[in-house]
Amino acid sequence: MPQYTLPDLPYDFGALEPHVSAAILELHHGKHHKAYVDGANKVLEQLDAARRGNDAVHVGALERMLAFHVSGHVLHSLFWENLSPKGGGEPTGELLQGIQRDFGDFRGFRQQLTQAASTIMGSGWAMLAWEPVGARLLTLQVHDHQSSTAQGAVPLLVFDAWEHAYYLQYRNEKAKFFEALWNVVNWGDVAQRYTRARPSGRH
Ligand code: MN
Repeated sequence: MPQYTLPDLPYDFGALEPHVSAAILELHHGKHHKAYVDGANKVLEQLDAARRGNDAVHVGALERMLAFHVSGHVLHSLFWENLSPKGGGEPTGELLQGIQRDFGDFRGFRQQLTQAASTIMGSGWAMLAWEPVGARLLTLQVHDHQSSTAQGAVPLLVFDAWEHAYYLQYRNEKAKFFEALWNVVNWGDVAQRYTRARPSGRH
């Protein structure tokens, strides 16, 4: 049976300070992200047991938990790689051209993603995604980890808008957290994902 594992952070806990505190990063990665990894593995075991026991009753509830935990694991793994102590600034090249084509300009895109993150009611994520059917970039406001997504869209850049992502440092001022995140966005990582998401030759 496949097992999910907690990836190491690509930098030290204090590497994103002052924008994200070491205390937040240690707790966020070691406790919160780990809980989704453990949750995904546990649900897989429970689905295995339900399948073997021909227990149809519990499958529906387990599928909802599976979507939650796997999506939490996927998004946190992406979030760590989207950030870097050497990040910040603005995208360049094809990614910048794509942003200009689908959002007008970088400033407008940045404002839209910040607004998507800041206006989530409850827990969720703001996301820049490549949507392959329309062959365009979209911003999405994901609820929890898995709701209000667009099926098939490939996440390129995500901002965690759960309280656990900012509350120790920013308290009720979550918009300040999202503004700070722009200082550590790893545009090289986002650009690589953009290149990989698109069929070759497509701009
Ligand atoms: Mn989180």
